[in-house]
Amino acid sequence: MPTSKRPHRSSASLQRNSMWMMLSVVGLFTLGIALSLWFSLQTRAQTEQRLLQLQAEQTRVSLVRLLDYYHKLIDNAARDPELLDLVRVGTIEEQQGWAFSRQRLLPDLLGLALVSPDGHVLGEAASLRVGPRCQEDMQRTDTLMDVRPLLHREVAGFEHIDLVSVVRGTDDEILGGLFLSVRLTQLQRVIDDSLHPGYALSLIDAAGNTIVRQGAVDGPLREVRLDIPDTGWTLIAQAPQKILTRDGEVQLLVGVATLGAVLLLLGATMLRLRRAMLRDINATRDALTALAQEEPVPTIMPHFVEFEPAATDINQIALHLQDQRARLEHLSLTDPLTGLPNRRAFETRFSQVQGLAERQHPVSLVLLDIDRFKRVNDRYGHGVGDQVLLALARSLKALTRRADLAARLAGDEFVVLLSGLDTSGVDAWYQRLSDHFRNELNAFDLDLQTGLSAGQTWLGSEHGDTMSAALARADHALYQAKARGRGQLVSAAEPAVGGTE
Ligand code: GH3
Ligand code: MG
Repeated sequence: MPTSKRPHRSSASLQRNSMWMMLSVVGLFTLGIALSLWFSLQTRAQTEQRLLQLQAEQTRVSLVRLLDYYHKLIDNAARDPELLDLVRVGTIEEQQGWAFSRQRLLPDLLGLALVSPDGHVLGEAASLRVGPRCQEDMQRTDTLMDVRPLLHREVAGFEHIDLVSVVRGTDDEILGGLFLSVRLTQLQRVIDDSLHPGYALSLIDAAGNTIVRQGAVDGPLREVRLDIPDTGWTLIAQAPQKILTRDGEVQLLVGVATLGAVLLLLGATMLRLRRAMLRDINATRDALTALAQEEPVPTIMPHFVEFEPAATDINQIALHLQDQRARLEHLSLTDPLTGLPNRRAFETRFSQVQGLAERQHPVSLVLLDIDRFKRVNDRYGHGVGDQVLLALARSLKALTRRADLAARLAGDEFVVLLSGLDTSGVDAWYQRLSDHFRNELNAFDLDLQTGLSAGQTWLGSEHGDTMSAALARADHALYQAKARGRGQLVSAAEPAVGGTE
């Protein structure tokens, strides 16, 4: 047998969807923070590099200015005509005397002397403070022509650089040279004055020897190297390279705090949303459960305005179903032809009325059957037969009170439960009913030759009487009524007389 397949679709999880949304927010935020941090670090690094470059260039300008000052000093002196004569024709004493007088004028200098073209000191080298290494350097070929300063730091406390300016004659021939040695403290002062806190500055010569230096940088650093023109020296400026600056830390902290706040807000909103949605869904489920259990259906009042159309629809469907059920219930308890309660309704009502009987209320059960009804059908057709049944129904409705019950059991058989009547009351009621029925039939203007037989019994008060037992007693009495000639009421208590038909 083919089975109908329902399309299967796995439901999405609200919780998993929320989780993914949260993760996406975290991811996007982290990416945003990382990018902004990266950009600010890049900008910061560029700014710091520019600052370092600026400082190195300023330091170089100061160093070049200092060296220029000394170069100009000896170059001007070397071009002095008076000095030319002194070098050319002066005695050693005069030459040494000139050097001493200039030394006195420039107390910052370490040494100053006139030298011969081959680099020998004109005068007493020690008195003029020209060291043996300085003399060696000057006596080397071409040294007098070399404008580059020479570094000497052999003697502690007398570290210095040597500068030499060539003294030329009128025909540009080399007459000798003017030697000057400058303490390194002069250069050190420039470096010290230029140093930015946390940075390091060092000056090295062509051979890589440190001339002067100040400051130190630990760990990762950025560096700028600048050549000092005409010296072969290099100025090195260094600054620490911070991975995360203070600004970066604050930025990171603000980012993380914002992310935390957004997540909190999002989480709380999702929870509230979920709770409210579940409340609406539960209200709908409760309403449908009540409907299924045939209980009063509570009206759904949704939390979200968006759910209102659906809730209104469900409320209306519930009301409609309740109405429909009530109608079906009514139909299932009603005889379709006469509109009287049917056998099922009688069974339900019987148990209630039985309670009355047990509390000593007189309750009479009367079984009614139309006499010779078959003949009516046969003679005048089922339509007339139906009209006869309807006539009896009208009579029963007219002669029963709210507390009584008249029902059609089947065919031409009806049952009535009468409460609060004694035997004579039941008899009188039967007579009124028969009269009423006869009057109804008279309106047909047909020779129907029918009537109403009835069998009556009292519902037992002492012991639990059953419906079938009561009906059997009444049926027996009815049988007797038929047997006695029809058109009469027989009480079950009465002994049966006469024969059967
Ligand atoms: P008695 O006096 O002994 O009761 O004779 P009777 O002819 O009435 O016999 P009975 O009560 O056994 O007959 C019932 C008849 O009712 C049989 C059936 O054809 C008829 N009948 C049952 N239901 C209906 C109905 O809904 N409409 C019509 N027109 N006739 C029905
Ligand atoms: Mg009958």
